[in-house]
Amino acid sequence: AVDDEFVDAPVALSLEGVSKQYAETTAVDDVNLRVREGEFFTLVGPSGCGKTTTLRLIAGFEAPTMGTVRFGGNDVTGVSPEDRDIGVVFQNYALFPHMTVGENVAYGLNFADPPGGISSDQRVADLLELVDLEGMESRDPDQLSGGQQQRVAIARALAPGPDILLLDEPMSALDAQLRERLRVQVKHIQRELGITTVYVTHDQEEALAISDRVAVMRDGAPEQVAPPQTIYRQPATRFVADFIGDNNVFDADVERVDRGDGTSRARVHVGDQPFDLEIEGGTSLEPGDTLTFCVRPEHFSREATTNTFTGTVESAEFLGETTRVTLEWQGRSIRLRTTDPLSGDVTVGFEPDGAHVVDSSRE
Ligand code: ATP
Repeated sequence: AVDDEFVDAPVALSLEGVSKQYAETTAVDDVNLRVREGEFFTLVGPSGCGKTTTLRLIAGFEAPTMGTVRFGGNDVTGVSPEDRDIGVVFQNYALFPHMTVGENVAYGLNFADPPGGISSDQRVADLLELVDLEGMESRDPDQLSGGQQQRVAIARALAPGPDILLLDEPMSALDAQLRERLRVQVKHIQRELGITTVYVTHDQEEALAISDRVAVMRDGAPEQVAPPQTIYRQPATRFVADFIGDNNVFDADVERVDRGDGTSRARVHVGDQPFDLEIEGGTSLEPGDTLTFCVRPEHFSREATTNTFTGTVESAEFLGETTRVTLEWQGRSIRLRTTDPLSGDVTVGFEPDGAHVVDSSRE
């Protein structure tokens, strides 16, 4: 995709046909992934989809049942975590409580010389500055907030100057406000160092906000790998459309297809309601086929003159900037966003290019 700025960067790490089997559970199922140098790459998906296991395979805490893990061009499948040149931060990777902040970070050096020929003290000071905890060397961990503690854990992971940073839900124990602040800081640190980063989260909003590319995982494998804008605007499958952000997914019957240059148009029916959709790229759809399309809540408008229908307000949630309204229409719930409160019967519509057709052959 054109919005993928890392497409030409060298590959920093790759998984080739990697699977992990635990007794009856296939935690990771034939995964092929390439993460590029300097990229912030996120694995997101519902509980149990294999995010953590994938990260542990990259770290070397688990050995794959099948497949190869490479760093750069090198096969590291049999290499132990200590020899992989990685920094790792876990959700609850508590700091050593009996050590000061400075000692915790210095511990990350593993008694080796810091990179760049500087002293350990200087390295610790530099790292604390990087994570915005300048001068806090002598504090005890229990004098820090949760967000500050996680930043110390990040500084500790970065101490030896690893090639790759692996983060497993590092913010999930923090409250919402702190999480949002920390994610800006984590992104800033990553950019500052240009360090290849693999991040695990179940929070789709966090994944979109922080990443260069996102892999949406389901049942042990990525279902779509793309930059956040593409994941949001052009979800490849119904699962991705449903999992990422608020969405309205429709199954429709195709009445007519007008093929054009670049984009095509389709006239479809949901029940007896006709809709006109714009389809990006070529399409092999024929009259009589079924398709699945989605419309984001923000693409519905009461001013639209195309694809209009009338529903009844089922509920309205005031969210501050906008109100999330649910309309009952033909036995289904349609979610939209408005700036003013609505009630009773409401007519809304959407532009043909406000809909996105997903690949309904992948269920
Ligand atoms: P969560 O967001 O809940 O942490 P996840 O996406 O990180 O989930 P994993 O922890 O990778 O998912 O687990 C994937 C699957 O593998 C799950 O069904 C889990 O129960 C199983 N699994 C993970 N580790 C083990 C293990 N050590 N032994 C047996 N099964 C395991």
